[in-house]
Amino acid sequence: MSRILVVEDEAAIAELIALNLRHAGHEPVLAADAEAAQRAVDAVLPDLVLLDWMLPTQSGLALARRWRGDERTRQLPIILLTARSEEADKVAGLDAGADDYIAKPFSTNELMARIRAVLRRKSPESLDEVVAVGALRLDPGTRRAHHGAQEIRLGPTEFRLLHYLLTYPERVHSRAQLLDRVWGDHVFIEERTVDVHIKRLREALASAGCAAMIETARGAGYRLTAQPRPAATTIAAADPAAPGAAAGADRSA
Ligand code: CA
Repeated sequence: MSRILVVEDEAAIAELIALNLRHAGHEPVLAADAEAAQRAVDAVLPDLVLLDWMLPTQSGLALARRWRGDERTRQLPIILLTARSEEADKVAGLDAGADDYIAKPFSTNELMARIRAVLRRKSPESLDEVVAVGALRLDPGTRRAHHGAQEIRLGPTEFRLLHYLLTYPERVHSRAQLLDRVWGDHVFIEERTVDVHIKRLREALASAGCAAMIETARGAGYRLTAQPRPAATTIAAADPAAPGAAAGADRSA
């Protein structure tokens, strides 16, 4: 399920789109002008924005440009909706940072197909596709996670968190990024919340023997890795080439 912001001043079109989005299992949020759209994005970062070009006070194009210039919204997937279909307008829309462009009138099937394509490319964690790293596997369709044959029981937040980390493995995610992408909000929720849920996630993974896959990058955030590094003490004890081990050998000689 994806949270999709629909920025459209024509109520009938907005309602029709919202109906189709709900039918496809998404969660539509409606905004009738640029100001309402900005407020919605400030509150909760959506998975994708359907942005009408012609809006009453500020154009969708200007809004897309502003979002592309802001660190928090730079990656926000945007599909521009417009009655314009001239080649030059299409280029202007894509130049402003839209990921796709769809001319009115459009069929709802086409709109839904474009939404799926943009989400697959830019926000795969919002689609119900199985994700796996090593033996750790999560199926959003059945809401189940396994490590090998062992099922891992997770609360709803831990499930979303693991889903996100499995979709983007090996990268370090800051607490603010995780709040935005997993909770949809980095403004009104404390960063400490992330630590609490990472702890719970590790406890759940520990029951399947894979808690070490979630690594803490000191001062930076968290990452999920297929090849967890052994703890520092383990490296020093096991590796005879390590400086500490060599010094110890010298003293005993
Ligand atoms: Ca309009």
